[in-house]
Amino acid sequence: MKISQILLGAALTEWGTSLTMVITTIDGFFIARGQLQKTIAMGPADIIDEITQFLSEHSEHPIYGKLKLAGTALTLEASIDSTCANTLEYFDVAAWKDYPIQSELSDLLGGVPTAIDTLVNGLLAEELAAESAKGAVPQCAALIDADQSIMLSLAYRGEILHAPQFGALGHMQVATEGAVCSCGGRGHLLTIASTGAMRQTIVRRMEQYPETTQRVDEITAGNAIAITPQQIWQLTQENDTVALNLLNDLTQALAYAVSFIIETYDTDRIFITGEYAKFGQDWLWLLNHRVAEFCQPKRAEHLNQIIKLGSVHADKYVRGALALAAANIAN
Ligand SMILES: [Zn+2]
Repeated sequence: MKISQILLGAALTEWGTSLTMVITTIDGFFIARGQLQKTIAMGPADIIDEITQFLSEHSEHPIYGKLKLAGTALTLEASIDSTCANTLEYFDVAAWKDYPIQSELSDLLGGVPTAIDTLVNGLLAEELAAESAKGAVPQCAALIDADQSIMLSLAYRGEILHAPQFGALGHMQVATEGAVCSCGGRGHLLTIASTGAMRQTIVRRMEQYPETTQRVDEITAGNAIAITPQQIWQLTQENDTVALNLLNDLTQALAYAVSFIIETYDTDRIFITGEYAKFGQDWLWLLNHRVAEFCQPKRAEHLNQIIKLGSVHADKYVRGALALAAANIAN
């Protein structure tokens, strides 16, 4: 096998604490992985430094010889301008404000094609690449990534749509009353369906239910607030009333958002990624059932073809960055 050209994908997933970098061949063969964890907030110049240093450490391969970078992509949850060249802001750290990250990174890497985008757009690029490998590109595709945050990405005829601040689906109002959101609003999707809200809600509601409290204590070794979505799913499989009601509420809230997107953008494919996608087809059935209640009957018949669970779980964000890098050099 002759390999000369490689791709570099990097994803900054938690502010200042987690940068994951992966190098693969253009055909997708794994070369190297690097991870940087810091408690301090890093500026864009330091992030670029880490990426270029990681690349230089892996420019020679013991079997394949000298490797040449063909393209790269960095994904992060910053607000990015519509041309994907500058970060407009990233939390309130001044160094990221109006930073020309695309040209700076590209220059330091010798002018290779460089894509900068959000984490969720990388995930959609990855799912679209998988669809296109099967010979089907949806006319209008959407992706919802639901974890600690809930983000939306949209693509029309395979082109991902860009706009600053676009995609913060978690702040969609899904209830007229309810808990106060981090943004100050009330009844937002985040306050019901984020993984953080899920944990807080079960801890609050289980107080009235000794059996649930006992099971939660068992499976979390006494640290209830650290309960994972997988553990809550496990409780629903044991028919625990509190867990079933909680799953019902968050699925209902997500279904409202999903149906709104399907109806508004006329999407023929919507991918759901994140912790809940790991629940598998049984949960998808429940979600579809709820979405059908909000959709036009004509569309409700086809939800099985429209709503899909994400196919990538491990290292999903950096794999999304690699998909963006590949798509960027193909264009
Ligand atoms: Zn909000």
